[in-house]
Amino acid sequence: MSELTSLTIAEARNKLLAKEITSVELTEAYLNAIDAANEKLNAYIKVTPELAREQAKASDARIAAGKTGGLEGIPLGIKDLFATRGVHTQACSHILDGFKPEYESTVSQNLFDDGAVMLGKLNMDEFAMGSSNESSYYGPVKNPWRAQGSNADLVPGGSSGGSAAAVAAHLCAGATATDTGGSIRQPAAFTGTVGIKPTYGRCSRWGIVAFASSLDQAGPIARDVRDAAIMLKSMASIDVKDTTSVDMPVPDYEAAIGKSLKGKRIGIPNEYRVEGMPGEIEDIWQQGIAWLRDAGAEIVNISLPHTKYALPAYYIVAPAEASSNLARYDGVRYGLRVDGKDIADMYEKTRAAGFGQEVKRRIMIGTYVLSAGYYDAYYIRAQKVRTLIKRDFELAFHAGVDAILTPATPSSAFGIADEDLANDPVKMYLNDIFTVTVNMAGLPGIAVPAGLDHKGLPLGLQVIGKPFDEEMLFQTAHVIEQAAGRFTPAKWW
Ligand code: GLN
Repeated sequence: MSELTSLTIAEARNKLLAKEITSVELTEAYLNAIDAANEKLNAYIKVTPELAREQAKASDARIAAGKTGGLEGIPLGIKDLFATRGVHTQACSHILDGFKPEYESTVSQNLFDDGAVMLGKLNMDEFAMGSSNESSYYGPVKNPWRAQGSNADLVPGGSSGGSAAAVAAHLCAGATATDTGGSIRQPAAFTGTVGIKPTYGRCSRWGIVAFASSLDQAGPIARDVRDAAIMLKSMASIDVKDTTSVDMPVPDYEAAIGKSLKGKRIGIPNEYRVEGMPGEIEDIWQQGIAWLRDAGAEIVNISLPHTKYALPAYYIVAPAEASSNLARYDGVRYGLRVDGKDIADMYEKTRAAGFGQEVKRRIMIGTYVLSAGYYDAYYIRAQKVRTLIKRDFELAFHAGVDAILTPATPSSAFGIADEDLANDPVKMYLNDIFTVTVNMAGLPGIAVPAGLDHKGLPLGLQVIGKPFDEEMLFQTAHVIEQAAGRFTPAKWW
């Protein structure tokens, strides 16, 4: 890793503004790093060097003219779920083969408006369905982390596995990601990076390929808490093109960093423990509690009694919405078309060839739970459970809790092609046990690295906050980061 690619966004920003480095230099350093590493890590599925150089040059000109945005000249990676004008956008699915949108997603446009440079599109699970980045049409991403003394490849988590791996391996300064049930926080935890899923409605969903519209949210994955705050400030906006985006001013999140936790109450939910969870997860959680207490926070035990129903309810609501959202991929309007003897045959052949196994599984589950006769028993019931989960959090916040601390994941990163997980989708789904509740309730959640396990792999903690109180998350996560330190993988790629 060259020195330039080791800079955080905040450090690079300061050097760019002080004219110690140029965006062109920084961008070239990243393009070289990607060239050298991508074959091994498979984090990028499309690199856009010409566009990056052009944007970097324009950025340097703006810096020279003294007209700078919050991310001026900073090279970022963009998850393949975000529509980028004229550039490969396939949600890492075969069915979107060759699709290049004529429009830009609001989030990526916001980043460009603030001066960011795009290095390319990042690998992910197909249509953001997965927890290991193994369902991508472009093959799995490798985690830059390996267990001590082992050469075995590990997953980076998913679905934003390319984003997390690229950030951890210094193949971009920061990355966009999305989170429907944990896809920002789980890969962040598996790679020693920071990821925040903001409140539902904080970032516009316009131009993001839809998975489950009532749960999807965009957010950043970054190297540290400050960088995540800088990125979210640019990504978040009110957008008339997304009626679920919320009309609230975007605060200066960076200003929250360094604020004291004195007088703040942190809730510790009894229910965030699962059978077979390694003792190290409990230990790191207790360590986090101690750090926050030392920082002046009051620790209170709370109960979120409906937690155990969140995962089963999520796996009804998310596939239901997905089956409806993915109906549009029919071989007529975008991407792949496999000809058939008539139009119905063409639809069938296109969808059979275009979707991967996990996506087909979700479409079938979703179609089933929405079908006449089962709708009330599954879908309506899951929605009722969702309301109860939301109410659990509301009661905790109402009782005076400012934020909630939990583990981010029930384990550290696991192996690529792990047989146990590959043959049992429910085991894979269990990865999201601590993260899906937050999506079901529409709340913000941040994952921050807290330490390494006995194998030398990163473990994360999660801070959950009140709606639109992302500042409290940055404030709390920063305290954890200060105590835990930062974690970088040893380079093998
Ligand atoms: N792993 C979860 C799923 O497969 C969450 C994915 C996501 O957040 N996009 O549905």
